[in-house]
Amino acid sequence: MFKQVLIIADIEGSSGCWDYGASSFLTPEWARACVAMTKDVGSVADALLRAGVETIRIKDFHRTGYNLLPEMINDDCQIIHGYRRGPVPGLGDPGRVQAVFFLGMHAASGTDGFLAHTLTSRIARLEVNERPLAEIELFAASLAPFEIRPVFFSGCPVACQQARNAVEHIYTYPIDKSTGGQHFNPESWRSGLALAAVEALSNEKTGLYRPVGPLHTAVTMRDGEDAARKIAARWNLKCIGDQIIFSAQNMQMLYLELIRICYLTPLVEKTLPFCLMAYNL
Ligand SMILES: [Zn+2]
Repeated sequence: MFKQVLIIADIEGSSGCWDYGASSFLTPEWARACVAMTKDVGSVADALLRAGVETIRIKDFHRTGYNLLPEMINDDCQIIHGYRRGPVPGLGDPGRVQAVFFLGMHAASGTDGFLAHTLTSRIARLEVNERPLAEIELFAASLAPFEIRPVFFSGCPVACQQARNAVEHIYTYPIDKSTGGQHFNPESWRSGLALAAVEALSNEKTGLYRPVGPLHTAVTMRDGEDAARKIAARWNLKCIGDQIIFSAQNMQMLYLELIRICYLTPLVEKTLPFCLMAYNL
């Protein structure tokens, strides 16, 4: 059984996010979604602690990383807010844990899951070796060098299917977003989530996620040809129509290239350590 675990928590697949407004920053729906997301994560954390887990680190991974309400989560958990640059992009140092649990996740860009996107909605579609690429693959691959296994995933049914397609033997627990929030019973769903997470503590079948390269990548930009051409030129990448095309040796290299495409300019990349320090302050 895993005794030290990491939880990566997003909001789109949590029990309080039922539209785009709830995933946006500082809307009233968002505030309610933060409470629900916190309760989801909190109930999983409580259940894992009761089951004998000794260390729980929780990374808030939605947007800027300030959505979870720490006062509502067991004090024995360590919550990581904000954005850390490395060694794992966004997360920083994952610490000494053996398994990662993904909660509140969403499906990949260009697929028909609930609020589907990969990293940013500016990417209309993201394909790697002709398959849509979901965020779990980027995160799980970044954690593999630290011997951390991706054992559990929750999100909409499409997101769960994509997780199972990518990571062999991963346990999943879906949330049906098709009924809307009014007809949803968060308490009963949440207790099922916590139960499923505890079961995943003995999921020894899932190995480290290390997909074999080369990874041929096509990033279709929502803003069209001009936007794609501009970004491709900035980073010396190939561009065909509204697609930026490149190959990466492995998933970590692919992740770094996507971060450049989505968020950076060469100047920002150079000054990033300073900017991030200021931002997190
Ligand atoms: Zn999110």
